[in-house]
Amino acid sequence: MKNLVINCGSSSVKYQLFDMTTEKVLTQGLVERVGIPGSGIKHTKTGMETLARVVDFPTHKEAVQYVLNLLVDPVYGAIKTFDEITAVGHRIVHGGETLIKPTLVTEKVINELEKIIPLAPLHNPGHLQGIHAIMEILSDVPNVIVMDTAFHQTMPPKAFIYGIDYKYYEENQIRKYGFHGTSHDYVSSRAAEILGKPLKDLKVITCHLGNGSSISAIKDGKCIDTSMGLSPIEGVVMGTRSGDVCPGVLLFLMRQLRDVDLVSNAIQNKGGLLGISGVSSDLRDVELAAEKGNKRAALAQDKLIYGVQKYIGAYTAAMDGVDVIVFTAGIGENGVAFREKVCSKLGFLGVKIDTEKNNCRGKEVIFSTPDSKVTVMVIPTDEELTIARETQKCVEANK
Ligand code: ADP
Repeated sequence: MKNLVINCGSSSVKYQLFDMTTEKVLTQGLVERVGIPGSGIKHTKTGMETLARVVDFPTHKEAVQYVLNLLVDPVYGAIKTFDEITAVGHRIVHGGETLIKPTLVTEKVINELEKIIPLAPLHNPGHLQGIHAIMEILSDVPNVIVMDTAFHQTMPPKAFIYGIDYKYYEENQIRKYGFHGTSHDYVSSRAAEILGKPLKDLKVITCHLGNGSSISAIKDGKCIDTSMGLSPIEGVVMGTRSGDVCPGVLLFLMRQLRDVDLVSNAIQNKGGLLGISGVSSDLRDVELAAEKGNKRAALAQDKLIYGVQKYIGAYTAAMDGVDVIVFTAGIGENGVAFREKVCSKLGFLGVKIDTEKNNCRGKEVIFSTPDSKVTVMVIPTDEELTIARETQKCVEANK
């Protein structure tokens, strides 16, 4: 059984082919600049050097066709024929309020995804193009969609409603949705598994901190709040995204710049660690610059640490306690100094960490001390594997 996981952006296609028996990745790759001059592909068969080719990909269809051909290539591929592909799982950024669990793709589901486009205009059109391309080329293979927003659909109304006229929720579905759901789901379940306790008996805060970052509160086995919102801009400061800003900032920028795209660029592409530091969107560069005395870099770093501490405090209050804090994604998994700094202000919760155990990167570890009131852990996330597993489950349930 082999499942292909596809993540189609507006101009990119990321893919991984899994052997579902071993759950190992057989091949993976990335197509960039679809529909833009200079498009190309990077493809890696596990155990081999990466193949990089410049290829003209006018649309997602040509890109998907090229990827599929590479999967059956005698040298770079991992399967002999397309028949070996059991199912295709598609990562979908936004499922709105209707697509709330992994779902087999049908005509009706495609219509639903189209209706949700206004909520995710930058992402969902790319996903749909990917689905159409796969359906055309692999017409007999089931497609499953797995939504980033799904895990957060258990949030109560008081967590997801914004303080604006209710008609915008009723008429336009304006509310908090949350993202990175596959990751929050995976690491919270894995934390419970590692601790040998049912997830429903734990109060967990999951910190997914990468280029994009979000923090979630999980109580009774369900997400009750999360830091990202209608869009993946809300929450802690990110690589280039602003995180929480006063809505007045947007009004001010709209009046000054008089152009939605310029405002969007300011808060999504030119903000965050990059905007504050003026150095980089990558925390490693920011940390290095701060060490060398760059004050804005130090401020950017502090802003992120402070933001994570505040969300942990807020979510502890929201859950009336916390048993487990999990760090994941690029910064969460690798930021040794970063994690130590975040935890340095959590003593009031009874958090005590072992700095030697914390000195690790990219592997599962409990780095709180045995007498810490809260278990603090690193759990590397695996969103693609989760999508492959969910795809499998969904296909089997629909047999
Ligand atoms: P994405 O959200 O694009 O999936 P990742 O989860 O890969 O991003 O996270 C990327 C970020 O992880 C980088 O921007 C970098 O700031 C951070 N990172 C990676 N390694 C380290 C490290 N050793 N120390 C601090 N931050 C790190």
